[in-house]
Amino acid sequence: MRNRRAALSALAATASLALTLSACGQSSEGGSEEKATSAKGGTVGIAMPTKSSERWIADGNNVVKNLQSKGYKTKLVFGEDDPDQQVSQIENLITQGVKALIVAAIDNKSLTNVLQQAHDAKIPVIAYDRLILDSKNVDYYASFDNTKVGELQAGYIVDKLGLKDGKGPFNIELFAGSNDDNNTKYFFSGAMSVLKPYIDKKKLVVRSGQTALNQVTTLRWDGATAQKRMDDVLTKSYKSEKVDAVLSPYDGISIGILSALKSDNYGSGSKPLPVVTGQDAELASVKSIIAGQQTQTVYKDTRKLAEVASNMVDAELNGKKPEVNDTKTYDNGAKVVPSYLLKPVSVDKSNYKEILVDGGYYTEGDLK
Ligand code: BGC
Repeated sequence: MRNRRAALSALAATASLALTLSACGQSSEGGSEEKATSAKGGTVGIAMPTKSSERWIADGNNVVKNLQSKGYKTKLVFGEDDPDQQVSQIENLITQGVKALIVAAIDNKSLTNVLQQAHDAKIPVIAYDRLILDSKNVDYYASFDNTKVGELQAGYIVDKLGLKDGKGPFNIELFAGSNDDNNTKYFFSGAMSVLKPYIDKKKLVVRSGQTALNQVTTLRWDGATAQKRMDDVLTKSYKSEKVDAVLSPYDGISIGILSALKSDNYGSGSKPLPVVTGQDAELASVKSIIAGQQTQTVYKDTRKLAEVASNMVDAELNGKKPEVNDTKTYDNGAKVVPSYLLKPVSVDKSNYKEILVDGGYYTEGDLK
């Protein structure tokens, strides 16, 4: 593991140098960033969902570095959470003659037509982290074990509250991600498989009564939307009672939830902050964990995901079979998409140094 980490950081260091050296090759045409290196493999188009969350910026940069180290040029675009903009960006990439596409979808059902255009132009498509639905033209899927993400979040709540030791009852509120992201239902059902037995036994009580996925989703994973819902829930369902845990699917949502809690005097005096989960190990959330506010996050190493997706592209473009480790789980409505799923890791105050700092994801300085 250590060797692999060391090898990965060495690769990242070399690639980052390559990136610096090639920075003058950037073009801002059409909002895309083109990095010019040796063109031996042609250009790969990378469509990421948004720059508003730092994980996707890291994903984009890591994919660029990885493909460049394999001799490809890249065009990286961000759709700013606007599904129509993402469709036209991908259309542009196809027109510009990319050899392959790596796409992290904004709306999982809006890409059917544009992926048909890719297929007609013989461009292989890798769904990146988020599965694209309703299209047979998704060649491979690179992601994490998304069910496991939810299990880790919920398992953390169970452990932290001492539910296995019979403690409780406790009050919990549930949040889920965007309803147009295929991952949302996997995260939520993974979490609910762990929480539901305690909800059924009334050891966990959802005072808002909002337990169905369609009652707890957060459009486009927006922190402000989550903050508003948490405000409403606290006002309506928590008069003298207090909330003990919040299942949050993503760090940006956790930060919104924590703002609502703090406005309601949680974190001061007799109202300790509840256990609040998260996902992505974003900088603001890791700092919040260190400061004792957010409790946990699920770390997904974007360097490894970028490597998996880039390897898939490289194999496809060289007539080889990309490596996969799951051929059953991800049915997109048109086919079961062969997938490579990485392992997510639960991170809190007790292990962030070992996982994030020793693992080279952040420096101590980043976290100050
Ligand atoms: C990703 C998560 C991320 C979320 C919001 C999901 O598709 O799997 O890692 O937290 O999008 O960006």
